[in-house]
Amino acid sequence: MPELPEVETVRRGISCLIGKKISQVFRSTKKMRLDSTLDLQRLNNAKVLEVTRRARYLIIHFDNKKSLILHLGMSGKVTVSRDFKQLKHDHLACEFDDGRWLIFNDARRFGFIDLLETKNLKTHKMLSKLGPEPLDDEFDLADLKEKIRTKKMNIKTTMMDNEIVVGVGNIYINESLFHCGISPLRDANSLKDFELKKLISAIKKIIKNAIDLGGSSISDYVTASGDLGNFQNTFRVYGREKLNCLQCSDLIKKIKQNGRSSFYCPNCQR
Ligand SMILES: [Zn+2]
Repeated sequence: MPELPEVETVRRGISCLIGKKISQVFRSTKKMRLDSTLDLQRLNNAKVLEVTRRARYLIIHFDNKKSLILHLGMSGKVTVSRDFKQLKHDHLACEFDDGRWLIFNDARRFGFIDLLETKNLKTHKMLSKLGPEPLDDEFDLADLKEKIRTKKMNIKTTMMDNEIVVGVGNIYINESLFHCGISPLRDANSLKDFELKKLISAIKKIIKNAIDLGGSSISDYVTASGDLGNFQNTFRVYGREKLNCLQCSDLIKKIKQNGRSSFYCPNCQR
């Protein structure tokens, strides 16, 4: 599943379309997870002003006061290409005035494409309840403390809740907890201030590093130019079940929490 760093990499990749104008729009007849609010043909003649990201949503802002939200779901890919071959799972393709195409392909169709009035972005049902971005200053001790005060759930599952902080996916929280030496089994509300501070800075560091390396590309994901990300080469605990811990040489344990795999070192993470 493309996570925040991968989506950020795609955002940077498609920013090359800023200032370009759409000359034709192809939309497949297949249904996506959400229907578009506005007819996608209204993208014709629209010029790209800006490409932003919120959590795992890509948002392309146009000069006709409309914005396009692209959500990659489980298997979505966005590419910029010189040609458009209308492959089986291409659901949206926009040709630009310089001859390039922006293509959205999603084999499993858990993603969506939504064109709406830019002024309605803030109240969009998928965006309105999101917590802070992990790299924003807003994600700090005071904010996190307030939100997890009453959480009796384990810290790992808690931090994957998008209302607490967005984009901290399974790989990233596993790596962050190892980095700061906190066990994924701890109750969220049992963490002391100094531990929360360590966790916040670990998350920021791990996410920033993943963005710098172009995301992790475990499954179907490719960047807008088709390159694979490199973050998976830096995993220190994720996927290392029964291997020696890189810090103490004890064995890494794998457990399930809320249906997701957790990897941790019982000796280094308390
Ligand atoms: Zn260890």
